[in-house]
Amino acid sequence: MARASTKPSSPFTRIASAFRCLLLLLIVVMAEPLSAEIVDQVPRILILYPYDEKIPATTIAGETLRHRLQQATMGKVDLFSEFLDLSRFPEKVHIDRMARYLSEKYADRRPDVVIALGEEATGFIVKYRHAIAPDAKIVFCGFSSADAVKLSLPSDVVGAFSEYDIAKTLLMARGLQPEARDLVIIGGSSDFDRSWLATARSDLPGPASGLKTTYVEDLTIDEFADRASRVPEGSIILVLTVFTDRSGRNFIPRNALERIAAKASAPVYGPYSTYIGHGAVGGNTVTFESVGTAVAELALDAIAGKPIASVNVPKTFVADARELTRWGLPESGLPAGTVLSFKEKSLWEEYWAAIIGIVAALALQGAIITVLLVERQRRLAAEQEARLRLLELVHLNQSATAGALSASIAHELNQPLGAIRSNVDALEILLRKEQPDLDLIRQILIDIREDDQRASDIIVRLRGLLQKRSEIDWQEFDLNEVVNSAIHILHAEAGQKSIVVSSSDPTRALPVRADKVHLQQVILNLATNAMDAMVDAATTERKLVFRTALIENSEVELSISDTGRGIPSDQLDHVFHAFYTTKPTGTGLGLSIARAIIETYGGKIWADNRAEGGAVFRFVLPLAQHG
Ligand code: ADP
Repeated sequence: MARASTKPSSPFTRIASAFRCLLLLLIVVMAEPLSAEIVDQVPRILILYPYDEKIPATTIAGETLRHRLQQATMGKVDLFSEFLDLSRFPEKVHIDRMARYLSEKYADRRPDVVIALGEEATGFIVKYRHAIAPDAKIVFCGFSSADAVKLSLPSDVVGAFSEYDIAKTLLMARGLQPEARDLVIIGGSSDFDRSWLATARSDLPGPASGLKTTYVEDLTIDEFADRASRVPEGSIILVLTVFTDRSGRNFIPRNALERIAAKASAPVYGPYSTYIGHGAVGGNTVTFESVGTAVAELALDAIAGKPIASVNVPKTFVADARELTRWGLPESGLPAGTVLSFKEKSLWEEYWAAIIGIVAALALQGAIITVLLVERQRRLAAEQEARLRLLELVHLNQSATAGALSASIAHELNQPLGAIRSNVDALEILLRKEQPDLDLIRQILIDIREDDQRASDIIVRLRGLLQKRSEIDWQEFDLNEVVNSAIHILHAEAGQKSIVVSSSDPTRALPVRADKVHLQQVILNLATNAMDAMVDAATTERKLVFRTALIENSEVELSISDTGRGIPSDQLDHVFHAFYTTKPTGTGLGLSIARAIIETYGGKIWADNRAEGGAVFRFVLPLAQHG
């Protein structure tokens, strides 16, 4: 046996097994389109609308059920709609013609299920089912079980019953208006309208309810509206349906109710959800959406081959929040579970996202503003601090300059004082004479006054040099003026050092806005540096030249050039750094203070070497705009 099992298969056996595989493959391949064809046969459902497409009740129910069928079958359903138009064409000849037409139309596509919306459509299809849809399952909706009995439907025709309870609508009205004494019931003149009036008469409690009940019927639409406008205040108005009025005019009941409610002097109620939004306060009803859903479920079960039986569509209370407000009725008076439409959302409910967004944005903005304000405060404080430091530095710098110049200033002061002394001595001698030369005496006195003036000018300038500032003293002045006063202060020192000082002749005033004392200090710093540079260098020609100019009618420039040793070209910017000095007793602060001052007044300062030797320092300041 073991041997037999290991025996290699003959070529024939191999061919036979390959053939078997091929056959199997063919069966599988051929079976595929077969099953696809079965799937292609989607169920056909015919929806019968009793009237035209404008009646909200059937339109809403129809749309809901179509949606439900599409959704449940994932679109694998063939839906057909027919509008029988029976309210405008109630004649038998039309009905027969319609039946013939549908029978022919659906000859090749017989429906599997027919859904009849409402009593009339149901009666129609039951009568003509053999011609139109002989093998179809028939389901219906939109009327009560009592109406179904009247239709004497076959046992295989089932549906979703709409059981309206007009007593419950009245219950809602009484809950909202417990003080009401009058009940006015309005109904139209069509068969349907009259059957509603009959239902109300049998179902409503009558005088025992404590309400004086009046039935308003057999009127035209305008008469209905007029009656509604004259009901006693605080009454309850119940509008059933007005499909047709006394004059024979046809209405969509919702529109009829709208006209009545618009004129009514008391709240209007009704048993249909379609009345909501058209003037009715509310009522107890089966919504047309739930009717559509219920009948769709029956149709789906029918397609699936499940056994089906009639059901009742669940009832609900519905109300319109705007009508509650219109009549001043409390929401708390509504029965529990009422579906309240058009409830105005509170500002918060409606715009919570926007409100949160705005509040967040405002908070963020507030935070940013606070941070910026704090930052600005800090910056201002820092600027104030820096200004104070600068003022202190400038003052120290002034004192140092005054110290450096004091010897020559004292020497300069000595000149007028010495001259005064000599003139006084001369006067004494002259006065001792018997006939003094009065003209000469007068001349000597003039000289003394002039010398005194010179001495006092020197002292005034010196005092100006030592003035301390706690605030910048902003003023507008001519830059040439400050240059001249600085030259006066330096004059003696330059003389001692054999330096020739010269300045350009000003062609026009060069107004700037700054603190005069500060600018004078800058000029003194630059000039003393220049004088130091010339004294250190072995130069015979010592020239210090001041030149002012107007640049592009927007800036004022001062240049101070010397014939000293110049500045190494890689140090031209470094000389402005604090503590940079090449002098044995230098502080290295003069130029950094000069730069700080010039920048404070919106200007720039820089250094260059002159081609012919020596350095030139320049600064520019904004030209002050007059007025
Ligand atoms: P200090 O005068 O105390 O040294 P400054 O800041 O006024 O401080 O000057 C810094 C340095 O710049 C000086 O030590 C000198 O080397 C250089 N300097 C300034 N002005 C001139 C000039 N006109 N010619 C050559 N070098 C100069």
